[in-house]
Amino acid sequence: MKTDHIRNFCIIAHVDHGKTTLSDRLLESTQTVQKREMQEQLLDSMDLERERGITIKSHPVSMLYKHDGQEYLLNLIDTPGHVDFSYEVSRSLAACEGALLLVDAAQGVEAQTVANANLAMEQGLEIIPVINKIDLPGAHPEMVEQQFEDILAIPREDCIRASGKSGIGIDDILEAVVTRLPSPRWTDCDQTRVLVFDNVYDTYKGVICYVRVFSGSVKPGDEIVMMGTGQKAVVKEVGRFSPKMLPEKDLGAGRTGYIVTSIKDLAEIKIGDTITLSADPAAEMLPGYKEVRPMVFSGLYPLDTNDYDKLKASMAKLQINDAALVYTSESSVALGFGFRCGFLGLLHMEIVQERLRREYDLDIISTYPSVVYNVTKTSGEVVEVDNPLFLPDPSEIDFIEEPMIRATIHTPTESIGDMLALISEKRGVCDHTETVDETRVMLSCDLPLNEILVDFNDRLKSITRGYGSMDYELNGYAVSDLVKLDILVNAEPVDAFSSIVHRDKAVGKGRALCDRLKDILPRQMFKVAIQAAVYGRVVARETISAMRKDVTAKCYGGDITRKRKLLEKQKEGKKRMKQIGKVSIPQDAFVKILKTT
Ligand code: GDP
Repeated sequence: MKTDHIRNFCIIAHVDHGKTTLSDRLLESTQTVQKREMQEQLLDSMDLERERGITIKSHPVSMLYKHDGQEYLLNLIDTPGHVDFSYEVSRSLAACEGALLLVDAAQGVEAQTVANANLAMEQGLEIIPVINKIDLPGAHPEMVEQQFEDILAIPREDCIRASGKSGIGIDDILEAVVTRLPSPRWTDCDQTRVLVFDNVYDTYKGVICYVRVFSGSVKPGDEIVMMGTGQKAVVKEVGRFSPKMLPEKDLGAGRTGYIVTSIKDLAEIKIGDTITLSADPAAEMLPGYKEVRPMVFSGLYPLDTNDYDKLKASMAKLQINDAALVYTSESSVALGFGFRCGFLGLLHMEIVQERLRREYDLDIISTYPSVVYNVTKTSGEVVEVDNPLFLPDPSEIDFIEEPMIRATIHTPTESIGDMLALISEKRGVCDHTETVDETRVMLSCDLPLNEILVDFNDRLKSITRGYGSMDYELNGYAVSDLVKLDILVNAEPVDAFSSIVHRDKAVGKGRALCDRLKDILPRQMFKVAIQAAVYGRVVARETISAMRKDVTAKCYGGDITRKRKLLEKQKEGKKRMKQIGKVSIPQDAFVKILKTT
């Protein structure tokens, strides 16, 4: 097929604005799938994804569409909607020339939509604005058109009104894809250049690469080279998704589809890499390749130490289809053996933990999430620290930098005061406000990533009674006065409770932690001091008074078997205790503290 009869596009939408429903309708309308074969919500495959309305993996689908008697090949490349996956969004965008910008007619433009639309425009994509769900009684298409004009500078005349549910506007959308979007770009290079924008692992075929061919072509039997890594492989199969895998003779310029090679290990193919042919290699990679770097780290430990091997095996399995997840083994005095894991963001972390619990039936405990700090030592050496335990001694530190974010927050007008107070409490600075409509404003602010890790989103939701939303992108590093806060139980530091915090917040956080620990830790036979210390200097203290405990006391005069049973039970319970110095801390206390603070 000639490249001017191919269109590659994606759909950008906020969660729940109807992307899945609309995609299904497009597939149905082009007879890519028959209505009766259509399972509900074909594109979202994982249960967890469906429940949370997040598409984690991008699945490209090819459709054939007739316009003016000519056949066009339309490739729809799915993009994940959430900010944690913005690296996936950007590489899906790199495979497209255009995007449908989908907005719910009743909800209006959301923070995420703005962020993703900006990403698309930066990459030079043509945008088709679509106002979806106009069948809803609460639909306000005019309001959404106004928002498109005001916030994104998209002319209202360009908007298509549609409903994925009732089928309104579907033909207009398909027509617009053909007539408004440009045909494939970067086709004029003499050599073959193919972008890998995703990978999945298949037990029978090995690694399946989702690819966009920019120039040249690939076919089975070709020897290819991954330009980023130099890795070579032989192509075994190429084809398109329609939506099932459909093998083809070759994949030419402008096409989107898949390549199966002799490579069996997912780690050997980097997402974002450029494939070329070893017989006639291209000189330069395709532009825009960025390696994914995890931004949030946390320790994951099995609640039951016997589950360590199971956790290890499960992590390895998870990583097969989640190249963004990284982990190394670590051990903690308090929690035993586990893993230090790197995630793209908070949502990614939650999803991984949830999958371990659900799909692998593991009880796990996670330590406080931490960002990656750049620590410049007095010697001039710069070290990256993602674990408070590895923060160098203060005498060796010249300065510490922390990662910053640029956040876009949508809030109802009446909540602005509280939102600004929250931003400032989190060490943020708001430098721009814009009216979205009569009831909402958009705040732009700079915040330390560390400050939004724990409860920011929950508080945002509660301040705005669920109506607020936030999106962010990473925005470099800034010097900050950060210190290490340790919690000591009976003068012994408990590694699982250590954290890196801003100096101004150390005392407050230290007090709060001591206070909670006092309520959670069981009394011991002796007096126990709980202290918070900044670099060894105590800033808060609580004391748990001593208690005598005799489990057999109640059985005075009872028979020996009952006594033995009670002692047996106590022994069992002790196994779940962690010995910190002379103090036993029940596993349960870690769970309570790490969950709530
Ligand atoms: P996604 O999260 O963007 O993929 O959204 P979905 O396609 O899963 O849709 C979210 C919810 O909106 C579902 O309950 C759909 O049934 C509903 N929905 C999607 N499209 C329409 C539409 O055009 N009209 C109406 N009334 N509801 C819709």
